[in-house]
Amino acid sequence: MLDIDTLAWEKMNFLLPAIVQDAFDGRVLMLGFMNRDALETTIKTGKVTFWSRSRQKLWTKGQSSGNSLKLCQVIADCDNDSLLVLAVPSGPVCHRNTPTCFDCEGAQHPSLQFLSELEKVILKREIERPPGSYTTELLNSGVKRIAQKVGEEGVETALAAAAGSDEETLNESADLVYHLLVLLRSRDLSVNQLMTVLASRHNTPA
Ligand SMILES: [Zn+2]
Repeated sequence: MLDIDTLAWEKMNFLLPAIVQDAFDGRVLMLGFMNRDALETTIKTGKVTFWSRSRQKLWTKGQSSGNSLKLCQVIADCDNDSLLVLAVPSGPVCHRNTPTCFDCEGAQHPSLQFLSELEKVILKREIERPPGSYTTELLNSGVKRIAQKVGEEGVETALAAAAGSDEETLNESADLVYHLLVLLRSRDLSVNQLMTVLASRHNTPA
């Protein structure tokens, strides 16, 4: 638990830098500053709120753009003088209409990030269940049917890898991963949980 009283407010002129990170895919979204009031407002309302240094007042992200940041967790660093804010953005975070204020796509494994984006799309389908969507149809068919599809796609991937072309192998692998993501969702499991299991098997990163 974050203890607001133990933060190094005085050391930092009563303004702590707050790094905002996407709670789903780990992307760094933006940097803002929080005074005590902003931090308390953030925790109380669940909407990430900063101290605007240019306007000299509290600024709840999205109050004019509509693109708010839903708070998941606030963590202080080892010295209690900066904050890491894990949040879920409701839209583009940057005023340039880009998802993040930092342009470093190449350095952030976009291919892995896409798994999280796909997971979000599947979650949206589950909530909204738009008719005509294959994902809706799949989710409506239930866990057993989705599990069966994963089995079929697994066999097709294996066959393509053993005897087919690279293109077929990649296509079947893509089908397999998509169906696996839908299966996880149908059991209320997340890619994050999957990653945690994978990571726990490799305790020292290469
Ligand atoms: Zn920006």
